[in-house]
Amino acid sequence: MSKVLNDKPVAVVTGGARGIGLEIGQWFLRHGRRVVLLDRDAAALDAATTEFGQNPDVLILNCDVSRPEDVERAVATVRSTFGRADSLVNNAGVAVFKPVLQTSFAEWRDVMSTNLDGAFLCSQLFAPLLLEQQGAAIVNIASISALRASTLRVAYGTSKAALVHLTRQLAVELGDAGVRVNTVCPGPVETEMAKLVHSVAIRSDYYDAIPQGRYGTVEEIANAVGFLCSAEASFINGQFIAVDGGFDAAGVGLP
Ligand code: NAD
Repeated sequence: MSKVLNDKPVAVVTGGARGIGLEIGQWFLRHGRRVVLLDRDAAALDAATTEFGQNPDVLILNCDVSRPEDVERAVATVRSTFGRADSLVNNAGVAVFKPVLQTSFAEWRDVMSTNLDGAFLCSQLFAPLLLEQQGAAIVNIASISALRASTLRVAYGTSKAALVHLTRQLAVELGDAGVRVNTVCPGPVETEMAKLVHSVAIRSDYYDAIPQGRYGTVEEIANAVGFLCSAEASFINGQFIAVDGGFDAAGVGLP
């Protein structure tokens, strides 16, 4: 019995207690994986614990991905609890939408420490577990803000553009050992983050800028992430996919 359980692949999702990360976790559960949800938000962690109850396939851990000691503890707990990790989704993110002259250094560091340092730390510290598995994969969640400069996203856009390049670096370094690394760049999705930083004007401009004329859903992002982690994507490495309703193809600016 325990052999069967140990053979079940494990997906680790950062920022997994709500929003896009939570739906990515649900995708993996629906597709027969065990799931580790890492988050630092107490209320979101409580809600996820209530939702998944006693499900033995779900491990929920309080972990701030910008803190090396938290990530080290999470890696040790995943190893002792599930004994393996096959996928890592670096989804945890924070957004500050301000121009350069209004962005404090503390805000800049806050965005970089989660969006970039967090992805670096989790990739580096989970890599030994991933390298033990055949067909392991990392997916970094960037944004269409990685693909365009705009007046409001000096910190957020820069962090996400750097994440796209971190993907390429890791794909080159880890590809030889069998770990593929790719990026998903979501367009706007209705989540707590969007409520925080998408003003009425930004929302209206997005509807005009996106050829499909709407926001994406958490399910549409999770489907792309799940595909990139699956065996069907076994020769895709170092790439990004914009899941954005055609925004990037239209070549227009960010609102
Ligand atoms: P969200 O704010 O609803 O969820 C993000 C989760 O990450 C939260 O549970 C939060 O507690 C967690 N988190 C933040 N910092 C953390 C840290 N240091 N350690 C651990 N957990 C942390 O946001 P979302 O919209 O679901 O965003 C998920 C990802 O998608 C982010 O990387 C975001 O930048 C990206 N994204 C979102 C949109 C959008 O429109 N919602 C668009 C493009 C990209």
